[in-house]
Amino acid sequence: MNDWLSRDRESIWHPFTPLKGMTRPEMLEKGEGVYLYTHEGKKIMDVISSWWVNLHGHSHPYLAKAIARQAEQLEHVIFAGFTHEPAIRLAERLLDILPQNQSKIFFSDNGSTATEVGIKMAFQFFYNQGIEKKKIIAIDGAYHGDTFGAMSVGDRGAFTAPFDPYLFDVEFIDFPDQHSEDQVLQQFELLVAGGEVAAFIFEPLVQGASGMRFYSERWLNSAMEIAQRHGVVCIADEVMTGFGRLGSLFAADRLQHKPDIICLSKGLTGGVLPMGVTSCTQAIQEAYKSDDLMKTFFHGHSFTGNPIICAVANASLDLLLTPECEANRQRIAQKHQEFMHRIKGHSMVRNARTIGTILAFDLNTERDSSYFNEARHHLYPYFIEKGLLIRPLGNVIYLIPPYIITNDELDRVYETIAEFLELYPTLKSRI
Ligand SMILES: *Cc1c(COP(=O)(O)O)cnc(C)c1O
Repeated sequence: MNDWLSRDRESIWHPFTPLKGMTRPEMLEKGEGVYLYTHEGKKIMDVISSWWVNLHGHSHPYLAKAIARQAEQLEHVIFAGFTHEPAIRLAERLLDILPQNQSKIFFSDNGSTATEVGIKMAFQFFYNQGIEKKKIIAIDGAYHGDTFGAMSVGDRGAFTAPFDPYLFDVEFIDFPDQHSEDQVLQQFELLVAGGEVAAFIFEPLVQGASGMRFYSERWLNSAMEIAQRHGVVCIADEVMTGFGRLGSLFAADRLQHKPDIICLSKGLTGGVLPMGVTSCTQAIQEAYKSDDLMKTFFHGHSFTGNPIICAVANASLDLLLTPECEANRQRIAQKHQEFMHRIKGHSMVRNARTIGTILAFDLNTERDSSYFNEARHHLYPYFIEKGLLIRPLGNVIYLIPPYIITNDELDRVYETIAEFLELYPTLKSRI
């Protein structure tokens, strides 16, 4: 066992993990349903869906079979000049469930590439038409991925500091919280009215990585109305919010104004294999339909449209679109509501909030909410010890469980959190 961990330490560079003083990773043996089982026989409930990707539980037999079957049929092929049934079916089914204005599916590899593609698609949309529009608007605190384009439109902070000189210019507007909505809308309109803005990229209704921060449908509808009235391409990054996370299948379903471009990943394959999708409207693709070869969208990855991944995405959609799955999402939403009301007045809790299957609250620490808030370094091991995978963002504790989690399991999670809230004042002085 220790041998495995030292071999890991020797050879592997883990994501978002310091190379020195790294906490000892858990060595996993298997995953089943909502649980992960360690080498040492510990059972850990995954209530963050392994970085927000898992929808139907770990090692789901139906998804595993879909992978095996496709692997024996056609495992991979270059996707330029070739196509196959899993990809065609997936694209059609996505267009079926996405907002009606979406008309084309572009495949890529993950959430970051899905947003990169969205940004490039928007910029080239204007370039192809000979229109000079170069600015892009994003929201303070945004997270759109870790590649350079995605980083550029994301929040600038400690994570991006080494790369700041290489990131392109972006107009950031303030986060539209309850108190500043109208002011931010004015700020937005002023920018857009300048006429140079090509695109507006946003995580609809919930900013994930900045701490599960919610903002209103009313604000986003108004912003999109203004943007679209001025010919600004609206890019909804639904990498986290897609596939039922907010209750509705997509955040866009809750809005009157529909995005021009939608980015998907995470739950797309049920969280089993990596894939990104960027969809767009008829108007966007029209700008690329030309006899001029130079108006082609020159973007692709070696594994674009991989048949095995398409097959598992199709299988995940089979499960997602059942009435049982929808009932599960509603059940979780209801349970979250009840727990939110229960902890709302607690002295250690600030800003308890829930939308769909997401529940979040800020732990009332003296220091303000940021990723480096020291609370997170104590909270993560505390909950692992209790058998829960909860990975706070600074002092923001959140749940985003797979949809198969049962009421009993949810109750266990809530009880562990409630107990923690009682203990926290004493824990704090001890750690
Ligand atoms: C996770 C995430 C991404 C990046 O996805 P990766 O697959 O990790 O590259 C982009 N946008 C949002 C909103 C995300 O939550």
